[in-house]
Amino acid sequence: MPRLQFSSSRVWIPPFLLIVSILCSAQAPVPEPVSDQETQLGMAVYNELRDKGEIIESSPLYDTLRPVTEAISRVAQPRYNHPFKFFLVHEAHPNAFAAPGGNVYVVDSLLYFVKNTEELAGTLCHEVSHTIHRDAMNRLKEQQKIERRELGAMIGTAILLGPSQAQALAIGLIGDLQSKAYSREVESSADVTGSDICAETGSNPWGLVWLFQDFQNADTKQIPQLLSDHPANGTRIKTLEKHFSDNPDVFAKFNPDPKSATPFSVPKDAPEQFLRSSKP
Ligand SMILES: [Zn+2]
Repeated sequence: MPRLQFSSSRVWIPPFLLIVSILCSAQAPVPEPVSDQETQLGMAVYNELRDKGEIIESSPLYDTLRPVTEAISRVAQPRYNHPFKFFLVHEAHPNAFAAPGGNVYVVDSLLYFVKNTEELAGTLCHEVSHTIHRDAMNRLKEQQKIERRELGAMIGTAILLGPSQAQALAIGLIGDLQSKAYSREVESSADVTGSDICAETGSNPWGLVWLFQDFQNADTKQIPQLLSDHPANGTRIKTLEKHFSDNPDVFAKFNPDPKSATPFSVPKDAPEQFLRSSKP
């Protein structure tokens, strides 16, 4: 059974030590400037998370994450028109979620939760696939249509939203991304695209299947939101297995046995420094 270790510590580092820490610790990326609705909503989500003190500005954990995310970005980037950027965040439950505009948020404890590199890569390949499929934007459009707000007509157009509209939408979006599943079709579709991306990076796409299997016997409190609220994992496993067997030229070379996995090692008690709100 996977066991969570919350070994991170929130520390405030005095300014004179900041330069030293910047030199020693890997940094969060800088968000993409606003150029359309997706980057605008992405920036609004980023600002909300930063103002809640969740975004990790620097930590050696970025060094651990980077080799996995760089490989995924190289393959996934041609499929999306904004750069993928991966931010570490600190939240109660291990999770990962993708906001519109290319930002992917990875909860620090997910790095301690996964059993191997392939499980982490599989999860992140799945998340970038939600971005490529524009699932968050599509859900937002659908919700606005149902609620019959005037704003609904604006989502998906070239018009930028008002700052307060973007912020209101971002708050709702964060809640949805953290706790609400997409439909089974949308999830399976992200699994399939994610497995294609993982395979192209050379990472064993069975990683996501192993993660689902690990959770079938896990304590429900420890199951990351991204899996516990996602539709039946058994169905998702079957869809992936069919995709693998339908495309043997891509997938036959990968070993389905989790014993073949690449170990993933995370520094214990890695310090984390948080981005602070720009609000007074
Ligand atoms: Zn998903």
